Amino acid sequence: MSDMNPEIVQEVKRRRTFAIISHPDAGKTTLTEKLLLYGGAIREAGTVKSRKSQKHAVSDWMEIEKQRGISVTSSVLQFNYENHCINILDTPGHQDFSEDTYRTLMAADSAVMVVDSSKGVESQTRKLFKVCKMRGIPIFTFINKMDRQGKDPFELLEDLENSLGIRSYPMNWPIGSDKNFKGVYNRAKQQIEMFNDSNHGQNIAKIDSGDLSDPKYKEMFGADLHQKLLDELELLDHAGDPYDLDKILQGELTPVFFGSALTNFGVEPFLRSFLELTPPPIARVSNEGEIDPNSDNFSGFIFKIQANMNPTHRDRIAFLRICSGKFTKGMQVNHVQENKKVRLAQPQQFMAQDRVVVETAYPGDIIGIHDPGIFRIGDTLCEDASGIKYEGIPVFAPEHFAKVYTKNALKRKQFIKGIEQLSEEGSIQVFRRPNIGVEELIIGVVGVLQFEVLEYRLKNEYGVDVIIESLPYRYVRWITSDNFDKKNFSMTMDTMLVQDEYTNPVLIFQNDWSIRQIEERNKNVKLEEISLRK
Ligand code: GDP
Repeated sequence: MSDMNPEIVQEVKRRRTFAIISHPDAGKTTLTEKLLLYGGAIREAGTVKSRKSQKHAVSDWMEIEKQRGISVTSSVLQFNYENHCINILDTPGHQDFSEDTYRTLMAADSAVMVVDSSKGVESQTRKLFKVCKMRGIPIFTFINKMDRQGKDPFELLEDLENSLGIRSYPMNWPIGSDKNFKGVYNRAKQQIEMFNDSNHGQNIAKIDSGDLSDPKYKEMFGADLHQKLLDELELLDHAGDPYDLDKILQGELTPVFFGSALTNFGVEPFLRSFLELTPPPIARVSNEGEIDPNSDNFSGFIFKIQANMNPTHRDRIAFLRICSGKFTKGMQVNHVQENKKVRLAQPQQFMAQDRVVVETAYPGDIIGIHDPGIFRIGDTLCEDASGIKYEGIPVFAPEHFAKVYTKNALKRKQFIKGIEQLSEEGSIQVFRRPNIGVEELIIGVVGVLQFEVLEYRLKNEYGVDVIIESLPYRYVRWITSDNFDKKNFSMTMDTMLVQDEYTNPVLIFQNDWSIRQIEERNKNVKLEEISLRK
């Protein structure tokens, strides 16, 4: 520690980088907005939504987004709260773009899962949760919309366990619900926290706290509600899971907070407690072992590439998660995968609603760097010549497949270029059938809307009209055995063998049954649902 740069150590310590995940409509945007409100990054609630619409106005391929009123891509927001510097990785709500969310989770150190109290765990949350679980990052649960009629809190905890297989520890417990949602009991501080009017969520909600034994609460809640609270707290203490910070940090126990993002009730206590528990940037794994974030050597990896952030320039931005050292504008770094030096001249950061040129940044921060078409998802950039490579970013299983052709054979060159670029951005996966005469492209996507984006962008950016012919495949498995021998491999009629972009053998299936059949018939072959990028 002695020769570490104290500035870096200090900056790492105060940083928190997390992603917010939820099923659409659970309240992710509202909660994000309220966190910004508390951080003083916006003066009034309602601004994040307008950020969304500004983004629509400047980004023409997001026409689709505009038409459908959904947020397609993730963005990053940085703000300060007390002495913390917070990076929120916002993720697209629509499930058709969940691959983007999967990748974004790779850049986060923890996740906040927003659950609608009237719905419990929903399908999209379940999928995203799996990725958090795979990474072993801490997961915090915010049970939202307590100001409305919802499920019983015990039932919600049970749902977390049954649907997600995670144990929970309620950090606070709701007092009343629906219009009667008055506040919460804070279990760590052993106090009642009552929320005051926040002007319908426009302003910060003031908190009055007090001791549960104070007779005024019995009067305030009414004897029934008061007794119910006492009984429930007792039940939690005896039958609930004990508090265990190690388990929380390993993602085995989720701290649960009840609140209402809309009315700001419970938002600030959640933020404080979350910041206390969630870890600062921790060491990340590379091919040379763990890299200490406090190290002097700047390093990071690219987890996302986005085109047309600014349509007048048709630019591409690569999002870099800084993992160690200090970043300074204009620095020259090694692009490890290409073994080339690059200068990071106009790095950008995303502060609340604005994009600004960043002068310095630290581990945990996300910066956007201009990509002239050289970066790929998963690439490492580092300052010294060590050439470390961070762990690859997984390629998630596409669920929809189609043959894609250009209508005009003369445009084949532009067509291929467009396909390659979209594939580098990670918005489509390209498969080929080896050994057939005419080259045929099979495109895999996680959500069907991605086909619309593909069609739209190929036309608008590359001048290519395409035909998209949907295929009946729904599942993919990468064959990961080293010496896969096609001749001795037993297929089913409705399965196809293809190659991914790295010429790895891949199987695509129409149904579960075929996957099981093939596993049965080829016991020596290993199949994987997720593949690692090189
Ligand atoms: P997202 O799709 O997860 O980003 O959800 P939004 O934040 O856009 O919220 C979806 C809807 O739920 C909006 O109409 C919000 O105003 C509403 N909403 C969000 N939080 C709350 C809450 O705490 N209580 C109530 N009653 N409504 C909420």
